[in-house]
Amino acid sequence: LYVEHPLGEGQTIPLERDQAHYLFGVMRLGVGDAVALFNGRDGEWRCGVVEAGKRKGVLVCEAQTKPLQMPPDLWLIFAPIKKARTDFIVEKAAEMGAARIMPVQTDFTNSERIRQDRLQAHAVEAAEQCGGTFVPEVADLQKLDRVLADWPEGRQLMFCDEAEVGSAARLGAASGDQWAILIGPEGGFSPDERARLKSLPFAHVVSLGPRILRADTAAVAAMTIWQQALGD
Ligand code: SAM
Repeated sequence: LYVEHPLGEGQTIPLERDQAHYLFGVMRLGVGDAVALFNGRDGEWRCGVVEAGKRKGVLVCEAQTKPLQMPPDLWLIFAPIKKARTDFIVEKAAEMGAARIMPVQTDFTNSERIRQDRLQAHAVEAAEQCGGTFVPEVADLQKLDRVLADWPEGRQLMFCDEAEVGSAARLGAASGDQWAILIGPEGGFSPDERARLKSLPFAHVVSLGPRILRADTAAVAAMTIWQQALGD
């Protein structure tokens, strides 16, 4: 179960109403039972239930059961598409171990805004689901131009473009272990964006195969290919 609270030996964790309902109402746990908690920072902890009410409860941390497992330093930058498909991208990126998830507005992006809090909650659920101890941060929507203007030194970019033939096998030759993957919107990148992206010294243009993939499929394919080429 995910909590915001710091975790450490002897730490007391007050539960929120919906967490108490889930543990004691749905899962039927009670005083003396153990629950695995994580907060995305302190690893996973076995915690004992010391108070169990309908709307509240208290747990106490007993022992760490997993250390914090940091994913590779990989950002997924993507143009948000329809709501359900954007949810899917965030969920899969969190499952596959992205360190940061960044929705961006490109020339052909239709979405003007996103619900960052909802997407962050999807990332938490996905981490919970796959037993991870790390939760990637979902950034607020920002312009691709801004992200490129503030690009951190040393980070490489895997720019996925269906108009290219570049093989991902070449990625291994690039130095550094800080990476980002960029996936465009349904309409792809504009000619101006494509020209700019291709001219960036840190960008590596990559094809994901001969077919044009939907952006959500492309995000999963790109992360898989990146992991194959460069992951642990
Ligand atoms: N421009 C296209 C069009 O309207 O026909 C489609 C864009 S595609 C649906 C969305 C994004 O997925 C692209 O911008 C690209 O980043 C990625 N993508 C899809 N298929 C790809 C492929 N075969 N190789 C590399 N990237 C791909």
